[in-house]
Amino acid sequence: MATFDLIVIGAGSGGLAAAKRAASYGKTVAICESDRVGGTCVIYGCVPKKIMVYASQFAHATSNAKQYGWDINASFSWETLKTNRDQLIDRLNTLHISFLEKSNVTLLTGEAVFNNANSITIEGNTHTAETILIATGGTATPPKIEGANHAVTSNALFSMPSLPESIAIIGGGYIGIEFASILNALGSKVGLILRKNTILRGFDNECRQWLQTELSQSGINILTETEVTQIKIEGSLKKLSLSTGESLSVQETLFAIGRHPNTNTLNLAPIGVKTDSNGAIQVDDSYQTSAPHIFALGDCTNRVNLTPVAIAEGRAFADTQFGNNPQSVSYTNIPTAVFTTPELGTVGLSQEEATNTYGDTDIKVYKTDFKALFHSLTGQTTRTYMKLIVQKSTDKVLGAHMIGDGAGEICQSLAIALQMGATKADFDRTMALHPSSAEEFVTMR
Ligand code: NDP
Repeated sequence: MATFDLIVIGAGSGGLAAAKRAASYGKTVAICESDRVGGTCVIYGCVPKKIMVYASQFAHATSNAKQYGWDINASFSWETLKTNRDQLIDRLNTLHISFLEKSNVTLLTGEAVFNNANSITIEGNTHTAETILIATGGTATPPKIEGANHAVTSNALFSMPSLPESIAIIGGGYIGIEFASILNALGSKVGLILRKNTILRGFDNECRQWLQTELSQSGINILTETEVTQIKIEGSLKKLSLSTGESLSVQETLFAIGRHPNTNTLNLAPIGVKTDSNGAIQVDDSYQTSAPHIFALGDCTNRVNLTPVAIAEGRAFADTQFGNNPQSVSYTNIPTAVFTTPELGTVGLSQEEATNTYGDTDIKVYKTDFKALFHSLTGQTTRTYMKLIVQKSTDKVLGAHMIGDGAGEICQSLAIALQMGATKADFDRTMALHPSSAEEFVTMR
């Protein structure tokens, strides 16, 4: 039996950040992982997905190149992309393990189960700690329909041996539309199936509509108000029965209908850690659960399920509990991007959130759309869309939204301005950087 000051369950973004920060204060720390060190973001999520996004952008670049004088005869190899991407993930996995070693954090491999509030068992060995942090992340939610086993979730998509000729993607959230965009550009015939009318619930309504139109124009077949009721194997294809009475035969089916916290195998109830009906661990402002000495953060608490948030929470937890340096995480103005083509970047409030918070009469909306200079030669009809939400009474910029090239990078920088409380007047007296798309944010009238 080994004893530590802190045991962290889950070596993903939040857990790794917390473990290394706690160890930097001289604490004895162990971290447990049942899969690969790095977690969803590094192994099955943000990183490999962004590599796929880059791969898909070559398809757009090669088709646009001709008007710029380049005659490119291009072909795409899924195998090469997969090999190189997997090697990168292996390197990152090794790097994260070496960071743990350098930080003097003990890595325990296997699935952790609580015995009591201060003790867990992994692979038959018991380990104890004064404090235990749960950072087990989330897992893709499987569909509850007949034949669900014939569909894959996003993890499996990365290991597919070849690009599917056709794919049905169910779900209009981040994962569904990012993969729809990637696979469409790489050459798959993509059907995106939405149970409602519009993608990206929770985002600014006009942006949702704008992006959906762009995705549709890029060749994705979007079926709205449609649910998949059954999947059957028919020869080499998967036949989807739809709620509209129609059917769809495709080579592959991806369900991206959300994720749920990874908590059901931890044995939480007997040790007094409360979860909600989705299995999300309930925590207070300092990430403390309902059981003393047990903390939780990141996606397993199902609050803001984004990697940078989990990392910030992990560091704040360790600083507060072990560094004698109480920290809290700011959950306002969290920038985020949806890596479709075109890309969507956003920070702050949507028009709907701003209106609900401050009232219609205290909100002014600035919008613009234009053909980006790059596309003045390509002949593509795509237009860049930008929107600022301003509170009239204070002139504060409450939200900034963009659909177009570089939207994520631009919104990251705008997040600094919003976090500092920038006003529309501050935006107006900021000099434009010309020629750029971002300059439109400081010239809107
Ligand atoms: P989301 O919660 O973002 O979206 C789920 C989608 O599935 C919604 O469009 C929802 O539609 C739909 N849906 C839910 N249940 C059903 C159902 N039973 N049948 C059909 N459709 C259904 O989940 P994702 O899986 O896309 O992403 C999970 C999390 O991963 C996100 O919360 C995000 O935090 C993170 N992520 C972040 C990324 C980034 O930062 N770029 C990239 C990828 C993931 P409806 O609107 O009708 O409810």
